Amino acid sequence: MNAFYPRVAERAGHRCEYCRAPERVFNFAFQVEHIYPVHLGGLDVLTNLALSCESCNLYKGGAITGWDELSQQEVSLFHPRLQVWEEHFEWDTTLGHLEGKTATGRATVHRLRLNSDFQCRARRIWAPMGLFP
Ligand SMILES: [Zn+2]
Repeated sequence: MNAFYPRVAERAGHRCEYCRAPERVFNFAFQVEHIYPVHLGGLDVLTNLALSCESCNLYKGGAITGWDELSQQEVSLFHPRLQVWEEHFEWDTTLGHLEGKTATGRATVHRLRLNSDFQCRARRIWAPMGLFP
């Protein structure tokens, strides 16, 4: 396990900092993710680390940008240390979808596949249990 895990997980409230999945319903610890990837010079410091579920970490990979369909531009992905989640995303309670409110939010939803069938189904189960959002 990453040495920074305890502090990163506590700071994140044990939720994925991208999709807001609650770690406590999983049977494994979430991952400590480099917001700015190591291969691009990102450092192993708290200001560059975020708690991420396996799905978000898998699809984010080494990316720092994503495509915003509305503006037709490649834009920066959501940065959990520099940006406020609620300013970039909102939740559709009926469908379990996360909607991007900004170009960054939309590009992040698209790149990290935040509205996969698995993600949406899980949110619809978690919501009545008080685990989401
Ligand atoms: Zn996630």
